[in-house]
Amino acid sequence: MIRFCLLGSGSSGNAIYVEADGSKILIDNGLSFRQLESRAQAAGISLAGLKAIFITHEHADHVGGLGVFTRKVPIPVYMTQGTADRLPPGIGRVNDIRFFEAGEEVRLNGMRVGSFSISHDAADPVSFIVEACDTKLGLAADLGHPTDLVRQRLANSHGLILESNYCPDMLRQSSYPPMIRQRIHGRQGHLSNHDASRLLSRVLHDALRVVVLVHISEENNTKELAQSVASRAMNGHAAQLHVAWQDRPTPVFEICA
Ligand SMILES: [Zn+2]
Ligand SMILES: [Zn+2]
Repeated sequence: MIRFCLLGSGSSGNAIYVEADGSKILIDNGLSFRQLESRAQAAGISLAGLKAIFITHEHADHVGGLGVFTRKVPIPVYMTQGTADRLPPGIGRVNDIRFFEAGEEVRLNGMRVGSFSISHDAADPVSFIVEACDTKLGLAADLGHPTDLVRQRLANSHGLILESNYCPDMLRQSSYPPMIRQRIHGRQGHLSNHDASRLLSRVLHDALRVVVLVHISEENNTKELAQSVASRAMNGHAAQLHVAWQDRPTPVFEICA
């Protein structure tokens, strides 16, 4: 079984807790130490005994809390060299960085954390799949374009954490400057509700148990819209569909093969 919880999701800070086969990890840490602790407590999980943190890319909403956290809690932090080279100076020293290359897998006891390249406007961004006891959790967020590689790596996941960042109509009518709008919907930006639903319909399979939509824009989307577009793509599939919040944790999800 894999247990996971989105402690925060979106431009104000991302952190995903994953636990399997006796190992606990975080994917990204864009939350302050206090926020991370209080949200973990609210979700009913303990961060004591965390084995490692895995970083997708260097944007502040994914690494903002990393420096303080690793100076208080000495655990390994896995990231690509490109991400390490571009960490924002404001987060301070990050202890015990360990490098991997996109495509490599890190093993922590029975938990396997696989990585794959994604198209996003960062130095060397990756996403992850976590596997343990024949169960698979796939993550696809902060990507501008769902490539064949993304679809291949997400295939057969029992849990899916999927970006559904913006509604194209809301983005078109938003007050954002044209350059920012272009960045968001470009191939290195973020997935729209429709991109997410297309990707979802390509990776749906009978043993998919939970789908959590994440990184929902507060300006250019609503949870209801994201959920209804995804729900249409699921076309009656029995998997649970949830939307992650910016400011509080989701429930703890449990998935099994
Ligand atoms: Zn980003
Ligand atoms: Zn982000």
